[in-house]
Amino acid sequence: MSLLVVGSVAFDAVETPHGKIDRMLGGAATYFSVAASYFTHVNLVGIVGEDFTEKDASIFRGRRVDTVGLERAEGKTFFWAGRYSENMNERTTLATELNVFAEFKPRLPAAYQSPEHVFLANIDPTLQSSVLHQVKRRPKVVALDTMNYWIERTPKELRETLRHTDILMINDSETRQLSNEHNLLRAARHIFTLGPKALVIKRGEYGAMLVHQNRTFSVPAFPLEQVHDPTGAGDTFAGGFMGYLASVSRLGDAELRRAMVYGSVMGSFTVEKFGLDRLRELKRSEIHARARHFSKMTQFSL
Ligand code: AMP
Repeated sequence: MSLLVVGSVAFDAVETPHGKIDRMLGGAATYFSVAASYFTHVNLVGIVGEDFTEKDASIFRGRRVDTVGLERAEGKTFFWAGRYSENMNERTTLATELNVFAEFKPRLPAAYQSPEHVFLANIDPTLQSSVLHQVKRRPKVVALDTMNYWIERTPKELRETLRHTDILMINDSETRQLSNEHNLLRAARHIFTLGPKALVIKRGEYGAMLVHQNRTFSVPAFPLEQVHDPTGAGDTFAGGFMGYLASVSRLGDAELRRAMVYGSVMGSFTVEKFGLDRLRELKRSEIHARARHFSKMTQFSL
């Protein structure tokens, strides 16, 4: 099964109550690919600059991540800087330097053109659409992430991309903004009229909720004594979610529920350390152990 992702590969500067790092590897597609590669093979489409070294690229080595679609261009790699509030529930973006991303025109290598699963990470909806146009067959699942910036500035283009999206994965404030509905179930009903058949609402420390076909399923965030850096949690969630779905042949309610659990499991590891440090060293056995823990933690009888 093939899983295609398009999105940012970046350098991030991050400040949390637990520390400050001026430059570390990040980017939505990076977190996504590393997380998903524990479950399936990933084809990565993105762009980096001349400052992206072999050492940076080594995050993908020894994993099931194909980087033939990771273009190298003259200039600097996309840079993002953010600061988290004391309780880490709010994030302020301090800098977004598009650099090589400004001229990015995603190009799918021939071997990537018939994916069964596609994840369009948070980028310009026009670029997301251009990826779908290059895909030869209708994929089994197209999932998409977006943010307030695109909801506000390119609503028409976003709507066009949403028409071809099966699963929308956004946070609660984006859900409300996109739908103009405060109530999340009503918001979901509205979003289903735009194209997606399922909505995954990411709620940070409160977990995540899946809405599809009049059904809801909620997973908590794994309780951790210390969260060091929430950066990339959403993309890692998406990587666990899509990676799991791409690893199984069925796409039913049970699979979607399990995907939610693996998404939450993967996100919970990312936040334990800064940047990609926890994912870098993560073992498969730890993923399975935490998934079992999730199952016990949420079981009850009536
Ligand atoms: P998350 O914490 O899951 O929302 O994702 C954080 C990652 O998204 C960081 O590693 C950033 O490099 C990347 N990022 C931040 N802003 C943007 C943007 N406007 N476009 C693409 N990627 C971004």
